[in-house]
Amino acid sequence: MTSYKELGLVNTREMFKKAVAGGYAIPAFNFNTLEQMQAIVQAAVETKSPVIMQVSKGARNYANGTILRYMAQGAVEYAKELGCPEPQIVLHLDHGDSFELCKDCIDNGFSSVMFDGSALPYEENIRITKQVVEYAHAHDVTVEAELGVLAGVEDEVASEVSHYTKPEEVIDFSTRSGCDSLAISIGTSHGAYKFTPEQCTRDPKTGKLVPPPLAFDILHQIEEKLPGFPIVLHGSSSVPQDEVDTINAYGGKLPDAVGIPEEQLREASKSAVCKINIDSDSRLAMTAAIRKYLADNPGHFDPRQYLKPARENMKKMYIHKIVDVLGSNDKL
Ligand SMILES: [Zn+2]
Repeated sequence: MTSYKELGLVNTREMFKKAVAGGYAIPAFNFNTLEQMQAIVQAAVETKSPVIMQVSKGARNYANGTILRYMAQGAVEYAKELGCPEPQIVLHLDHGDSFELCKDCIDNGFSSVMFDGSALPYEENIRITKQVVEYAHAHDVTVEAELGVLAGVEDEVASEVSHYTKPEEVIDFSTRSGCDSLAISIGTSHGAYKFTPEQCTRDPKTGKLVPPPLAFDILHQIEEKLPGFPIVLHGSSSVPQDEVDTINAYGGKLPDAVGIPEEQLREASKSAVCKINIDSDSRLAMTAAIRKYLADNPGHFDPRQYLKPARENMKKMYIHKIVDVLGSNDKL
């Protein structure tokens, strides 16, 4: 048993309370490589932002759970080394799909876990979420639950259609499950292809796809039912067009990739939404920089040469999200 407290990590309780009261959101960046971790920590330290480093089941399978735990511990020490004496870093399990997986993460240094029972029948979702909450709270670990289904593909999580969260269910669900935060479905979506061209309109000037707006009416109804309760948005990458264009210009093929406009995420950050998940944008920033570097320097083969600009590009993106979209800068 390794407690996250021994690693210098924190849970999300105080962080979310301050974010809801302060009208900003905490960035939740997925990671599974050294360069992503370094870029996340550098961005958080430079902007004085709390940060959630999250790991999906797929990332654990890719990078190894033990290694990721030591990377999170390394992130805390690295932040201190960069001049942040008391970093606020959470190690979070993204989309845990069983009690056993959540327990294993809690036993191995995670400070926060998500149990995603959104695809289960309602009562089953409550039952397992409650089981996770009881074990997690005994170890002072916080729990995110999910109600409503997001469309899109993310590692092992995939759904063709979205089902918006039903506001009439949120009081019953959060009270009976005891969860600390709730991921809701209001039109965000996993992956770099969040919407089909048929779901979008086309900007006549640029020819680019314009996605359908988020369901802010549902968010506001949920806020009214659960005043001050921490709400989470998954699938909230904006899929920056310049990164997609770079990838396509250097041999990639990502036609019609489309994300959530940043103005809408900025608006959501000011509400009870206190955690916004961003994964695809980091993948795009990394891939764009690597493709460009290798095309410009065909004779180079040292991974450090192309991973360095990849790391810098991700860091730039993380800082932009923190300062210009989520507003979590200068909170340490
Ligand atoms: Zn997700």
